[in-house]
Amino acid sequence: MNTFNINKKGYYGEFGGAYIPEMLYSNVEELRQNYLKIMTDSSFQKEFNTLLKDYVGRPSPLYYAKRLSKKYNTKIYLKREDLNHTGAHKINNTIGQILMAKRLRKTRIIAETGAGQHGVATATVCALMGIECIVYMGEIDIARQAPNVARMKMLGATVIPALSGSKTLKDATNEAIRDWINNPVDTHYIIGSVVGPHPYPDMVARFQSVISEEIQWQLKEHEGKTKPDYVIACVGGGSNAAGAYYHFLDDENVKLIAVEAAGKGIDSGESAATSALGKGGIIHGSKTLLMQTNDGQITETYSISAGLDYPGIGPMHAHLYKSGRAEFISITDDEAMKAGLELCQLEGIIPAIESAHALAVFEQKLFKPDDIIVLNLSGRGDKDLDTYINHFKL
Ligand SMILES: *Cc1c(COP(=O)(O)O)cnc(C)c1O
Repeated sequence: MNTFNINKKGYYGEFGGAYIPEMLYSNVEELRQNYLKIMTDSSFQKEFNTLLKDYVGRPSPLYYAKRLSKKYNTKIYLKREDLNHTGAHKINNTIGQILMAKRLRKTRIIAETGAGQHGVATATVCALMGIECIVYMGEIDIARQAPNVARMKMLGATVIPALSGSKTLKDATNEAIRDWINNPVDTHYIIGSVVGPHPYPDMVARFQSVISEEIQWQLKEHEGKTKPDYVIACVGGGSNAAGAYYHFLDDENVKLIAVEAAGKGIDSGESAATSALGKGGIIHGSKTLLMQTNDGQITETYSISAGLDYPGIGPMHAHLYKSGRAEFISITDDEAMKAGLELCQLEGIIPAIESAHALAVFEQKLFKPDDIIVLNLSGRGDKDLDTYINHFKL
C-alpha cells in the first residue's frame, strides 16, 4: 500500500535518512537498532502511558469551540495540548525519550531549544528521573524567552547559550550535535521535533501520535465518527503536526493543513516559510526542504514566534508538501497575532503564538458549515505574554 509514513530505510518519499558525521554513527545506530524494540515493549508502554496520564494530564480534551465555529460558520474542535503539564505538546516526546534514554543506560541528557518549550519539557523529565540535563539555546532566544530560561534553571538544568550564526534554534542544534560527538557513550540527545537523522523523526512522531490516537475516540464521542474532514496544525519542525496527523496520514478523506510562519511576509526576506521558499538539502542529519541561498548556505529565518523560527521542516512534512498530501499555508506575524487575540476573546483561551498561526487559517480559507475541523492547539500563551503586550500595546 502507498503510505505517507516512513519506509524501512528511514525515508518519507525522497526525504529523511541519516546524513551524519562518522563520529555520530555509533550513537545514532545504537538508537536505530533499539528504538522500536524498546517502544513496543509492554513495560515501556505501561510506564509511558502511566506518566502521560498521571504526570502530563492526558488525555488532553477535544474541545468544541462554539463561538469560534459560529464566527467562521463551520465546526471547529480544538485539541487542547495547551493544557498539558509544561504548557505544550513537547512533553509527550520528552517523556518518551527520557524512558528511552534510561533503557539505553544513558546518564546525561542534552537538548536544543528555540522557544524554550522543549528545553523546559526536557529539564522537567530530567528532574523527574534525576538525570543531568544540559540545554543549548540561541542567545537571541534566551533574551526573548527569559521566563523559560528561568524555569529550566529552577528545574536544575544547565543552559548554555549558542553564540554563532543567527543565535537561534539552528545554532543551538549545531552546538548540541557538537556536544554529542564529544560525549558519545553516556549521553542521549533528546531532539525536540520530527527532525534530525533517522530514527529521530519516526521516534518523535510515534511519541506524539498519542494526539491523533486520542482525537479518534474523542471525536467518536462528539460526532459519532473517528475521522475529521480536516486536521490543522502549525509546523516549526513539525512534531505537533506529525502527532495530530499520524493516524490519518494514509486516509486521504482526512485533509491535512500545515501552517508555516511567513514572518513579515513571504517575499520580505524575513520569514520561516520553509516549504514555500525552501529547496532540497541536508540539515541536521536529514534530507529535507530547507531555506538556503543559491549556493546552499542555510538562510537565517525570522518569525515572531521562536518555536516556528527554524529554516527546515521534518522529512515527513517535506514529503507531505512535495506529494501534495497536505496543503501548506503561510501566515504572517500580524495575521497570527490577530488570530491569537481573537481566540482569547471568543473562547477565553490564550494560545501560544505558534498555535495562533494555525488559528489564522480561518481568515484565509473558507470551510463548509458541516466540515468537521480539528485544530491542534499546540501550546498556551503564557510564555508569549511580553510579545502580546508589545504587539498590541496592552
Ligand atoms: C515548539 C512548538 C511548536 C513548533 O514545534 P513543532 O515541532 O513544529 O510542533 C509549536 N507550538 C508550540 C506551542 C511549541 O512550543
